Amino acid sequence: MTMSLTEIQDKIQKGEYRLSDHAIKRMIQMKCVFCGSKAESRNVTFVYDFDSNYFFIENVPAEVCGQCGEKTYSPTVSDELIRLAKKKLKPAKTVQVPVFDYAIQV
Ligand SMILES: [Zn+2]
Repeated sequence: MTMSLTEIQDKIQKGEYRLSDHAIKRMIQMKCVFCGSKAESRNVTFVYDFDSNYFFIENVPAEVCGQCGEKTYSPTVSDELIRLAKKKLKPAKTVQVPVFDYAIQV
């Protein structure tokens, strides 16, 4: 049985068809908003930087542009990042980060 795309979309809207998370991920696999290149799903380290508060959140699922490296987070992940940033959680580990000043070094 062959169905047209509109028929499939109709069935999905009516709830007769369910899409797997993987399929949804594939469908919304966005092109990079900056350069239009293809982005791939990868786990990245999110750098939180607000009001001189810095921390990293490792293993964050993101779509990373193969061309320019721009990272895009799904709405769910973005919400979770905000939630994590507000929580005073015990970090998994603490690292020392060297800080350079462009104005002094260049
Ligand atoms: Zn890009």
